[in-house]
Amino acid sequence: MQNKIDFRSDTVTIPTPEMIAAMMNAKVGDDVYGEDETVAALESKLSRLFNMEAGLFCPSGTMTNQIAIKCFTQPMDEVICDQTAHVYRYEGGGIAFHSGASVRLLNGPRGILNPEMISPEINEDNIHYPNSSLVVLENTVNKGGGACYTLEQIAPISELCKRKGLKLHLDGARIFNALVKTGDAAKDYGQYFDGISICLSKGLGAPVGSVLLGTKETIHKANKIRKAFGGGMRQAGFLAAAGIYALDHQVDRLAEDHLHAQLLADALIAADFVADVMPVETNIVIFKIAAHYTTASVLDSLTKNGILCGATGPDTLRFVTHLNTNADQIAEAVQLIKELKPVKRS
Ligand SMILES: *Cc1c(COP(=O)(O)O)cnc(C)c1O
Repeated sequence: MQNKIDFRSDTVTIPTPEMIAAMMNAKVGDDVYGEDETVAALESKLSRLFNMEAGLFCPSGTMTNQIAIKCFTQPMDEVICDQTAHVYRYEGGGIAFHSGASVRLLNGPRGILNPEMISPEINEDNIHYPNSSLVVLENTVNKGGGACYTLEQIAPISELCKRKGLKLHLDGARIFNALVKTGDAAKDYGQYFDGISICLSKGLGAPVGSVLLGTKETIHKANKIRKAFGGGMRQAGFLAAAGIYALDHQVDRLAEDHLHAQLLADALIAADFVADVMPVETNIVIFKIAAHYTTASVLDSLTKNGILCGATGPDTLRFVTHLNTNADQIAEAVQLIKELKPVKRS
């Protein structure tokens, strides 16, 4: 039995010995009492980096997003986002459940929105209409195959939201992949967003945790919502230490994940069982299965050869590269893709 190469998600990474050492040596306290200095250090490190006033460490990216949506809406409001958005598709219907808000879905190419798409969907003040109060962007777009916004694209969206009195939240689960790809500076982000959520347990390779950034006032409110959601954690500094370690040591290496994703895409596009591959921008490769194969047969054949990945739709599969898919494994996967013979449709 060969070793598995796990392309299912960048969430599957295991902490390195160095990261575990950093966790074990963390100074901790009761963070619900505001006494964990490592959590405070992580929150202030990220808020300074993104030029925001304050941060809040939470157990998951879903929670940071849902807290932000709760902060920025009232029941009966409407949230505007792309139809691919994680906040809409993959958070268990949380917008309705937690915030009592409806959602207006847009259809941006690869999930990327612009002011011309958003503007006509902002409701006028009228008793028939829900109050449009929040726009959510995702960078990178997960279901868009890791597509990125540049700050140049974000600035006019932010300007529109400010002019119309809407809040703007960034689901930045993979924001560092976008920064590495675009060369944009984290410090320039703060001015454009009311909230930014950042995952430490995706490409950054920490085991647990996300941070919500915002104004002091927003984070004060968010802290209370986190408590109500059951997300206040006690000696959470052990986890925050992993995040600090990741920010110090595991950001620049994301470029390697992007290169690896491109190598996989090059192999896939040449394969008989692939119809199309979304152009690679970061660490996600989404590809369409050719009509004479079934998705199930390709998935089965990959799995039998030790390559794990997941379906993102009826005829699409996704590979995600990360800290635990090294150059040797990429070379092995490329070779396996070349030789793969899935069962054809009969
Ligand atoms: C993974 C992810 C999240 C948050 O996921 P959790 O598993 O709850 O940490 C949010 N947004 C996007 C785009 C994601 O890919």
